[in-house]
Amino acid sequence: MARYHQSVCRLCRREGVKLFLKGDRCFKDKCAIEKRNTPPGQHIRRRGKVQGYGLQLREKQKVKRLYGILEKQFRGYFHKASLSRGVTGEVLLSILEKRLDNVVFRLGLASSRNQARQLVTHGHIQVNGRRVDVANFQVREGDEITVAQSARENPFLLSAVESSKGRGVPEWLELDGANLKGRVLREPARADITYPIEEQLIVELYSK
Ligand code: SF4
Repeated sequence: MARYHQSVCRLCRREGVKLFLKGDRCFKDKCAIEKRNTPPGQHIRRRGKVQGYGLQLREKQKVKRLYGILEKQFRGYFHKASLSRGVTGEVLLSILEKRLDNVVFRLGLASSRNQARQLVTHGHIQVNGRRVDVANFQVREGDEITVAQSARENPFLLSAVESSKGRGVPEWLELDGANLKGRVLREPARADITYPIEEQLIVELYSK
């Protein structure tokens, strides 16, 4: 899988919003967006006015980067959402939210989606008692997500759990922090996603 090797803070500065790609640092004053919210690049001092196609493209890039997904897979999710009976944009966001790496992050078992993805791909996460090492695995209502016994002493995981206390868990999930496990209570609704996303712009972009 292709990887992005430059500073992830550049991605936030490109989109002009926090994408929470660096764990703890994103919640501190050290965050690059807090310090200077200008586009990356040596000579760029301010953001130009974006509209129409540019606006749609930026929204799509923002959501892709937020969830750490590449174009091909994102397009696949959109296709799946467009075939569903629901509102395409909302279904798309629901699919993204139900990815296992996102759920691990949302439960506060990892400090960023990147770290959550590592936990999953390294086999440290179980769903209903069985190891699942596929980050894009879609959770379902009633699923129980647990940290494998072998990873329970992992200092990165323990510090992530400690630092994410107080950030809260979305209402569609439930966390049992003492036992490092969580449960999917229901499907995520649009209202559960509080991050500012204008999914309609993405639908318009892909519908051209
Ligand atoms: Fe983005 Fe986090 Fe870097 Fe801030 S610290 S710019 S939110 S990745």
